[in-house]
This record gives sequence, structure tokens and C-alpha cells, in this order.
Amino acid sequence: MEVFKSFRLFGLYFYVSSIRMKRRRTIDEKMRNHHKELRKKKLLLYKLQDGCCSNCGRHFGSEALEIHHLVGISENPGLALATSNMVLLCHECHVKVHRKIDPRDEI
Ligand SMILES: [Zn+2]
Ligand SMILES: [Zn+2]
Repeated sequence: MEVFKSFRLFGLYFYVSSIRMKRRRTIDEKMRNHHKELRKKKLLLYKLQDGCCSNCGRHFGSEALEIHHLVGISENPGLALATSNMVLLCHECHVKVHRKIDPRDEI
């Protein structure tokens, strides 16, 4: 009886861990694609906004501007890559905007 139990536990352990590893790989791949997409969107937005922060209107290099999601990703993950849901903000404005929305929200 005891042997049967531990065998089952052993089997369950391996079953769970292999699924976890598989899932982690898919997430890594998704994140890589996501970052690639974000870079493309950022360049697009940079052109659309003429390289200016959409809040203060000052001009910045593309590296200095950050993507801000109007609807937070945690609120609606489906809008994470929607251009209409993104604006570029300088770091200063980005921090300010997030403090206003929800100080606990991640940028
Ligand atoms: Zn700004
Ligand atoms: Zn933001």
C-alpha cells in the first residue's frame, strides 16, 4: 500500500514538473516575440509623435521615451500590443502618470 502511494506521488511530481518546464519555455518565447513587437511599435509611435513625449511635448531620442499603456496590461492583457492603447512618454512624465493612476502599478 505504501509503495503504491509513493509511486503515485513520484509519478505526479514528474508529471507536474515537466508541464511547468514546458510552460516556462513557451512564456520565454512569447516574451521574446512580445519585446520584438514592442520595439517595432515604439519606432512607429516615435514617428507618429515626431519624437516628442505625448505629455510634456519635449523632444527626446527614441531610447529616452517609454511606452505607456493607456489601459493597463493587467487590466486588459489583450491590449498590450494595440497601437491605439500606447503612447510614448519621457521617463519623468511616465513616472508621474503612474503615480497618478495607481502608485502600486508597475510601469
Ligand atoms: Zn514628458
Ligand atoms: Zn506606463
